[in-house]
Amino acid sequence: MSVLIAGITGQDGALLAKQLIDAGVPVVGTSRDAASADRRRLVALGIDEQIKLVSMLPTDYRSVLHTLSRHAPREVYFLAGQTSVGVSFDQPVEAIESIAIGVLNVLEAIRFLDPTIRLFNAGSSECFGNSAGQAVDETSAFRPLSPYAVAKACAHNLVANYRIAYGLFACTGILFNHESALRPGRFVTQKIVRGARDIALGRLKQLRLGNLEVIRDWGWAPDYVAAMRLMLQRDQAEDLIIATGRSVSLEYFVERAFTNFGLNWRDYVVSDSQFMRPSDIAYGAANPTLAKSAIGWSAEHDVDFVVDAMCEGARTLSDSYRQSL
Ligand code: NDP
Repeated sequence: MSVLIAGITGQDGALLAKQLIDAGVPVVGTSRDAASADRRRLVALGIDEQIKLVSMLPTDYRSVLHTLSRHAPREVYFLAGQTSVGVSFDQPVEAIESIAIGVLNVLEAIRFLDPTIRLFNAGSSECFGNSAGQAVDETSAFRPLSPYAVAKACAHNLVANYRIAYGLFACTGILFNHESALRPGRFVTQKIVRGARDIALGRLKQLRLGNLEVIRDWGWAPDYVAAMRLMLQRDQAEDLIIATGRSVSLEYFVERAFTNFGLNWRDYVVSDSQFMRPSDIAYGAANPTLAKSAIGWSAEHDVDFVVDAMCEGARTLSDSYRQSL
């Protein structure tokens, strides 16, 4: 039986599909419009030909029902929806609809068609808001600070509710930031890495960024999709924090990326209020020990590896690929 990945064209969808295909699992992937989908990550990973790519609009219940009914997956990974905190301030309705209504439609379709289908929902550390210098765990309160985080909190609660009320095997991975060379260019980590590379190549003179003091826990995306798979192979569904347990400032990330390209970041980085958010998380840190005891997972790579690997990816991915992402 196949596995269905909603949002397969994104970073995590493509990396998860690669791991599943390598393990011999047939993969059906969805995009809002399969005919015009961005298949570049699937192509870059060499799996484009091995995936059945179909259209599914998560906000349209009929579309979700039809897709699940037609492909009868044993597992669904819901990785689709608006993914940018910044965009969610400009398009808050889209955030709520694509994330919260999207997961609700999947839950309803599973309940209606086949309650034995297992669901992984991609949750977010953004739900916690500011944790006042404390590392959060699964018992910490949600204090969302953006429409994206509000939507993720709603989706998280819906998944927990359907697990309790209807006995579904449905769980949320509360994912802290995770990166790779496949990260879209709109995210700050990729913007920094590509900016440093382009300055080193003489294509760019300076890089404009928002608040460099924010603290985050950055991990390596292939580690995180491995955790998603483990969460669906258990006897009981449970929500888990997926994080490295090490947090650093954005300035630390910037410095390491620029050093990778032989540059001193202070000569090129300019602070720009245009990139400050209406409300932002100053401090994000996690205690991921429950994932270790529950599924035997801990991050294999930390932020130093992440920065170095992203810089290597920015150097080595083909010119047309890296310019187009
Ligand atoms: P990406 O942005 O790389 O990919 C997300 C995919 O979702 C896109 O390829 C797109 O596919 C689809 N999508 C985008 N906008 C919408 C929308 N409005 N409605 C429906 N589908 C949409 O995200 P990631 O792979 O990095 O993230 C996967 C999941 O994990 C997401 O739910 C994200 O919020 C969550 N997450 C990620 C973190 C990270 O650091 N990467 C941290 C915490 C949570 P298409 O255009 O083909 O429809």
